[in-house]
Amino acid sequence: MPENNKVFNIAIIGGGFTGTMAAVHLIKNAKMPVSIALINKGGQLAKGTAYSTTDRVHLLNVPARNMSAYPDEPGHFVNWLRQNNRHLEMEDSGLPLEEDFVPRLIYGEYISAQLYEAISEHKQAHIQIFEAEAVDINMADEKAHISLDSGDTIRTEKVLFAMGNNVPANLHIRDESFYETANYQQNPYDLGKLAAIAKTQTVLIIGTGLTMVDVVNTLKNQGHEGTITGISRNGKLPHPHSDFVKYPDFIAPHIHKPPRELLAIIEEEKKKAGARGIPWQSVIDSMRPHHHEIWTQFSPESKKYFAENLGAAWGVVRHRMARAIMRRMEHWQKTGELEIKKGSLASLSNTAGKVEVVIKDGDAPEQVFWVDYVINCTGPMHNIAKIDKPFYKNMLAKGIISPGPLNIGLNSTPEFEVIDKEGGISEMFYVAGPLLIGVLWESIAVPELRRQARDVADKLLKTPPR
Ligand SMILES: Cc1cc2nc3c(=O)[nH]c(=O)nc-3n(C[C@H](O)[C@H](O)[C@H](O)COP(=O)(O)OP(=O)(O)OC[C@H]3O[C@@H](n4cnc5c(N)ncnc54)[C@H](O)[C@@H]3O)c2cc1C
Repeated sequence: MPENNKVFNIAIIGGGFTGTMAAVHLIKNAKMPVSIALINKGGQLAKGTAYSTTDRVHLLNVPARNMSAYPDEPGHFVNWLRQNNRHLEMEDSGLPLEEDFVPRLIYGEYISAQLYEAISEHKQAHIQIFEAEAVDINMADEKAHISLDSGDTIRTEKVLFAMGNNVPANLHIRDESFYETANYQQNPYDLGKLAAIAKTQTVLIIGTGLTMVDVVNTLKNQGHEGTITGISRNGKLPHPHSDFVKYPDFIAPHIHKPPRELLAIIEEEKKKAGARGIPWQSVIDSMRPHHHEIWTQFSPESKKYFAENLGAAWGVVRHRMARAIMRRMEHWQKTGELEIKKGSLASLSNTAGKVEVVIKDGDAPEQVFWVDYVINCTGPMHNIAKIDKPFYKNMLAKGIISPGPLNIGLNSTPEFEVIDKEGGISEMFYVAGPLLIGVLWESIAVPELRRQARDVADKLLKTPPR
């Protein structure tokens, strides 16, 4: 294997939002020369799964005012849109730009611009970009030797894991051989596959969250005529955003309480807000600064209870869609083009050229119906032990990484240091992004990740080389 002779100070594995913005902070804040290897597979540097879409109907699900890439410059994204006239490309929604929902493909270009601007303006850092998949790490001479699928090996003093989101897991069904058939799409972000679905086909979407909303919009935008059916255990679409109303911090005195008590306090506060004409969304959003503290102080039992009993409901109120998108979804429901069913999937099987779908809802008799095509929109898979990728398999086998709380993501300290299989806190391996969901819970949206990107870069620059 060709070994790159150079020893990098820092290698970042994953160049989506998190890895790219960590690189930007490293480049901007380096006081001494620092060499960075940014390794990203898939050729969509800076964009990752979320922002590499080429479909303009895919909008951000957070208003522009809260999508700055920098935690300390809240107006940065909106200013960038105006300075580059990118807001002129958007459909007129009647909302002020700050409150509007920008196409995600523009956001991807914004993040990309941050990287290339930082590279051209700050010369203390040298960055080399590798378009390849990291498949393994071996330790030698107190350095990490990262093997890439291109055959290269990169030597580095420190590594940041920023591998982000994975495709959804296949759900357990009676006969899992269905998943090998051409009527099933595991990766809902594969726009090429979505484009190949015949307009008249009936489609089942498993999961009714934001990914399903994206897929429905893509299909309808390409003229899809067949009925689309979404199923989930709660049978609910995501909620819409409301007008922005700043709500006082009511949760601070209660953050050390267990989940059930917190829930009662939140419900009470929602009622109080409603009585004053304030949307419940403002109550939920006011808790954002405390999410990590609430989660990290939960006992292991409380974490388990929350994840099993309240996690899905929390996701529904927390991750919301633009109102313009909601209006479209409601329209398609009214016309019967979109149907949402409540139930869990029991079976999928190919019968006489159709897919037979069996769903179960509590004690009610099983429902059976037929579709032509099935798409998995159950959300990213977070159990690293189940991810069928060489990098995770090798890192787990070597004990360099270990599963996070509740088998979600990687185990680490809240300060990004990876915890190995033996419980040792690493001075070489760091992690940021959605792989921290088990450790921090809310670790997926830009408002959390931009802070992580800044703080982990700061930590990497401060920790002396080995
Ligand atoms: C469809 C979608 C829409 C979203 N919309 C919003 C939104 O509107 N607002 C919001 O705040 N949040 C949104 N999110 C949340 C989103 O997770 C974050 O905003 C952010 O994009 C995550 O970035 P990331 O870099 O951590 O991960 P990712 O975007 O997943 O990027 C990880 C990168 O690492 C690469 N990689 C993985 N493994 C390897 C390896 N072994 N070697 C080399 N490269 C590797 C991948 O190819 C990818 O490029 C959305 C998420 C999704 C999935």
